[in-house]
Amino acid sequence: MKYDVAVIGGGASGLACAVRLTEKSQLKTVIIEAGDRLGKKLASAGNGQGNISNADLSPSHYFGGGAKLAERIACSDPQACARLFDCILTADEKGRIYPAGRQASSLCDCLIRKINGKADVILSTKVTRLERGFKLTLSDGRTVGARFVVFCAGGKAQKQFKTDGSAYALVEPFGHKTTKLYPSLVQVKTQTKYIKALKGIRADCNASAIVDGKAVKTVRGDVIFTEYGVSGNAVFAISPYITDKEGTVISLEFLPDVCASEIAQNFERRKSAGCAVGDLLSGSLHNRLGAAVIARAQTEDAIIGTLKNFTLQVEGTLGFDYAQVTRGGIDVRGINGNLESKYADNLFFAGEALDVDGDCGGYNLQWAFTSGMYTADKIIEKI
Ligand SMILES: Cc1cc2nc3c(=O)[nH]c(=O)nc-3n(C[C@H](O)[C@H](O)[C@H](O)COP(=O)(O)OP(=O)(O)OC[C@H]3O[C@@H](n4cnc5c(N)ncnc54)[C@H](O)[C@@H]3O)c2cc1C
Repeated sequence: MKYDVAVIGGGASGLACAVRLTEKSQLKTVIIEAGDRLGKKLASAGNGQGNISNADLSPSHYFGGGAKLAERIACSDPQACARLFDCILTADEKGRIYPAGRQASSLCDCLIRKINGKADVILSTKVTRLERGFKLTLSDGRTVGARFVVFCAGGKAQKQFKTDGSAYALVEPFGHKTTKLYPSLVQVKTQTKYIKALKGIRADCNASAIVDGKAVKTVRGDVIFTEYGVSGNAVFAISPYITDKEGTVISLEFLPDVCASEIAQNFERRKSAGCAVGDLLSGSLHNRLGAAVIARAQTEDAIIGTLKNFTLQVEGTLGFDYAQVTRGGIDVRGINGNLESKYADNLFFAGEALDVDGDCGGYNLQWAFTSGMYTADKIIEKI
């Protein structure tokens, strides 16, 4: 089988690349996908609702050696999703952009419809070897020839989507290196001493990652207490700042809209009405959460201090099997500004495979889509 372009991986970036190639060129394109369907991870994004981008595309939302690439490619293209999908998009109050129908799987349908009959798709088949020329060896023993290859095989997060990190090895023989990998946007394991009774409780708070005694990131949102530590969108959002550094702490500020003096006044009123110390937070916080705060405080003043700075020692994360994205990836020092390999002409990279990751809130899909389309444009420019 001989193609102009072989796309390795039919996830968000691979699909975006193939759509663009079929829309803008006559190049004979094939997508080779290890899974039994295209875009399986995309179909489960945003709790199945598909948070595909964000109204605030400031560069500070991107990390990794390729953050500057994301600034140039993802942040400069706020209309990318509108162009890519033929459906109506809406933003929520936090600026997170979704398809109006709030069904991520329908986004895959949009993309698959666009390439249908225009690009070949090989499913349930892994690329097991990539040689110069290019010759791709597939897991069923077949070979595919291609003039251009776009490496869109994702990262190491959630191997049930066939992203177990094994694909990085395909490009090692060309000289490409992979930076240190971390699970990101992931639940955090903490000491459980103070939160044992809180399993299942959700609280709206400011969550901060404290590294070396300094708050490196604070996010307002939901925190959910679990048997291993904490989850919820605020925890996901600060998890990129939690690496394997000793002494890292999560600090939770409950009642974030109410200042300490207002809480103190409330306590005074309640006490003059005969309220016991153990009940001072009843009604203001979930009863079990209130009890957990009070149990950690020696004095009344300390209750307010604990309420505003409820600290939990970090013991790690739930790891790659639970992470939404991989921090780290193919070292961008081995690619040029067109996302093309410096070691092999016509070998391009897009998406999570590269050392680029974004904050929670649509930034990773925005990167996957824009980098996928960008590589297609660069290939078309080259022919
Ligand atoms: C549960 C979940 C929810 C998420 N929600 C959001 C969200 O709401 N918003 C957001 O911005 N991001 C979200 N993300 C992150 C986002 O989905 C990913 O960053 C994005 O899908 C990356 O796109 P990609 O194309 O680079 O990789 P992927 O979408 O992971 O696609 C890579 C594809 O390559 C295939 N593959 C791997 N190796 C090979 C091989 N050797 N041969 C052939 N095929 C191969 C895999 O099967 C896979 O389909 C979520 C992630 C998860 C896991």
